[in-house]
Amino acid sequence: MFGTGLLKGLGVTLKHALETFEDDRESVPDRYKGSLDLGNNRKVIQQPIDQEGLLTIQYPEEKRLLPERFRYIPMLIWDSEKQEDRCTACGICAKVCPPQCIWIVRDSDENGKPVTRCSEFYIDAAVCMSCSFCVEFCPFDAIKMNHDYELAVYDRYPQLVYDMEELTVPLEYYAALWPTQYEEEQARRKEEEEQKRKQEEEKAARAAARQAAAAQKAEAGAGAPKRSAAELQALAKERAAQRQAQAQGQTAEGGGDDDAAAAKRARMEDLKRRAQERARQRKLESGNGSS
Ligand code: SF4
Ligand code: SF4
Repeated sequence: MFGTGLLKGLGVTLKHALETFEDDRESVPDRYKGSLDLGNNRKVIQQPIDQEGLLTIQYPEEKRLLPERFRYIPMLIWDSEKQEDRCTACGICAKVCPPQCIWIVRDSDENGKPVTRCSEFYIDAAVCMSCSFCVEFCPFDAIKMNHDYELAVYDRYPQLVYDMEELTVPLEYYAALWPTQYEEEQARRKEEEEQKRKQEEEKAARAAARQAAAAQKAEAGAGAPKRSAAELQALAKERAAQRQAQAQGQTAEGGGDDDAAAAKRARMEDLKRRAQERARQRKLESGNGSS
């Protein structure tokens, strides 16, 4: 029917108007209930997630509270507990950044050897597309997304090319912006550190056990009675005499063997002689018998 769409549109507008009126009425007398004070008469308005009205934000005096996962330009984390930058200058973030807006210069020691630290770190905020790839790929939780979006300047270069000092924030700042993620990361890091500590303890225990076994072995060797040179000589003589006596005994036994063999041979000869004698007698008897 002609005009149906128009009526529907007006209905939606009326619905939003009533919801807004209701939300505004509920926030009376304090529109800033639950809001954060930024100082200089500036506030962050908390608009609950279930609020449906089109609340007017008087920007820049008022700002809407950003959700935790809001992301704008990356920031580098200064670990306040360890008093060091988390970034190790590995360069992974620069490699994965799609528009290639990260530049890193690795620091070196007094001998010119590269170290795991940045001397320079730049991000071109005019090119960054807030994709958060650098954060996803950083293996050291050293780079995170900042919520700060008020970056307007008159000149792009060099104001929008942020250096390390401008990018670095303390760990507590990150913890306040990303409380849930921070807690998860801290729990994971604690678990990893605990595992590492356990592995190191086990390694140390194994090394100590090896050392103790080696010491025990050495002690056992040292505890064995030691003989003097004269004693060793006497022992050698005694052994030589034993060997000689053994050899002689064997020779004597060998002679016995020969005697036995000779006796055996003699007995055989005797038996042979007797057998020949019998044969001769039989022959004689048979000759006598036949004659
Ligand atoms: S921010 Fe992370 S990924 Fe990038 S260089 Fe530093 S440690 Fe490597
Ligand atoms: S957020 Fe994306 S575009 Fe920006 S610096 Fe990180 S990887 Fe590059």
